[in-house]
Amino acid sequence: MDLNEDAVVVILQRYFESPFPRDCPTCGRHYANLRQYVRETAPVGYSVSYDANRGDWDTANPIGSAAFANCACGNTLALTTKEMEMSQRLALLAWLKRTSEGSGRTPSEVLDQLRARIRANARGDAPAD
Ligand SMILES: [Zn+2]
Repeated sequence: MDLNEDAVVVILQRYFESPFPRDCPTCGRHYANLRQYVRETAPVGYSVSYDANRGDWDTANPIGSAAFANCACGNTLALTTKEMEMSQRLALLAWLKRTSEGSGRTPSEVLDQLRARIRANARGDAPAD
């Protein structure tokens, strides 16, 4: 599977719809969908690829990536790819390696760019609830 950034954005955006609805475990705030989550949380820290962080680019079992955001109550929530199909996690890790090496950006910088695009899409394109 040969991915480009646009395809990765589509895959991740679709995937990140799946954990919703979810509630903040600290304050109980209800997030009905990705759009509401994006609108009502503030991105915090860097996005991480656990595999890239460990230099484990060639793993057969990637752990995946995570992006963090703060709920209005201050609790930090994460979106992760831990439940993603393994073949897709492998393809994304290979893409991340190629893109990071090819652009001289760190894996976290590449992932943060994806996060910014996904958040922008989710704010604008999802149907109103
Ligand atoms: Zn909360």
